[in-house]
Amino acid sequence: SKDLGKNNFHFFTEKLNDEIQEKIHLQRLMSSALEEGHFHLYYQPKVDIKSNKIVGCEALIRLIDPIHGLIPPDKFIYLAEENNFIIPLGEWIIEEATRQLKSWENTPLQDLRLAINISGVQFKDKQLIPTLQDAIGKIDKNKLEIELTESVLMTDFDDKLDIIKKFKDLGLRLSLDDFGTGYSSLSYLKKIPFDTLKIDKSFIDDLQNKKDQSFVNMIVTIADELELDVVAEGVENKEQLEYLKRMKCEQYQGYYCSKPLPAKEFEALFLDHTCH
Ligand code: C2E
Ligand code: CA
Ligand code: CA
Ligand code: CA
Repeated sequence: SKDLGKNNFHFFTEKLNDEIQEKIHLQRLMSSALEEGHFHLYYQPKVDIKSNKIVGCEALIRLIDPIHGLIPPDKFIYLAEENNFIIPLGEWIIEEATRQLKSWENTPLQDLRLAINISGVQFKDKQLIPTLQDAIGKIDKNKLEIELTESVLMTDFDDKLDIIKKFKDLGLRLSLDDFGTGYSSLSYLKKIPFDTLKIDKSFIDDLQNKKDQSFVNMIVTIADELELDVVAEGVENKEQLEYLKRMKCEQYQGYYCSKPLPAKEFEALFLDHTCH
C-alpha cells in the first residue's frame, strides 16, 4: 500500500541518515585522533623460515580511542581514502615508521626492515615523494619498504608507475602485497621493479589442499625466477609453516609467530627469540 511505501522510504532515509551520521562521527574522531596522538603503529614480525629469526616487520595502523577503545584499520581506512584524510594520515605513518627505525639504530633491532602500507589515494599527494625523501634522509634507506596492493595499480597505471620509479630512485624497497588476488599480476611484475612478493593469506588458509599447494609453489617459483623475495601472509599454524618450508618459501608473517604488537612488545618479542 501507499502507507507501507512511505514507511519503507522513511526507514530507508533513517538508515541512510544513520550511516551519514556515523561517517561524520568517524571523520571527526579521526581528525582529532591525529591531533591528539591516538593513532598508533603496531608491528608484526616477518620471520625467516629457515632460521626462525625475525628479519623484519610490517607496520599496521590502529586507532586507540579513549572512549571506543581499539579501532582496527578495516573500520576507518576506507573512509580515510574516501575523504582524502589518508593523505595527512599517510604522512604521519611515514614519519612515525621512520622515527621507529631511527630508534632501533645501534640496538639489537638495527638490522630489521620495516614495511609500511601505502594507499592508492596517497599517490595524489604532491608531498608524497618529498615526505619520503625527508624521512629516509634520517635513516638507512633500504631499511624502509613500501607495500602496494595490485588494486592500487588498477587505475592511472602510467602516472603511478612514474611515482613508483621515484620510490626506487630514492632507494626504497618495494613489495607487492596480496599477490595473486588481483587481475593482471604477471604484467605488473613485468613492468614494476618489485623486490618482494607477498602471497595472500587466502592461498595459505587451506594449504593441505593440493590446489592451493600448487598455487603457492607457482608463486615461490616465479619469485625465484625473478630473483624476488617471497613472504607468505597469514600463517597461523605449524602445518602451514611445514608446507611453506618444503616449498622453499623464504619468509612468513602470521599469528603463528605473533599478532601485530605495540612497539615495546614487539621489541620484547624480538629480544626473547620466541618465534618457534
Ligand atoms: P594487509 O596489508 O594485507 O595486512 C595484513 C592483515 O592481516 C593485518 O590486518 C594483519 O593483522 C592481518 N594478519 C596477519 N597475520 C594474520 C593471521 O595469521 N591471521 C589473520 N586472520 N590475520 C592476520 P589489519 O592490521 O587489521 O590490517 C588490515 C588492512 O588494513 C591491511 O591489510 C591494509 O590493507 C590496511 N592497513 C593497515 N595498516 C595500514 C596503514 O598504515 N596504511 C594503509 N594505507 N593501510 C593499512
Ligand atoms: Ca600489507
Ligand atoms: Ca597483505
Ligand atoms: Ca591480505
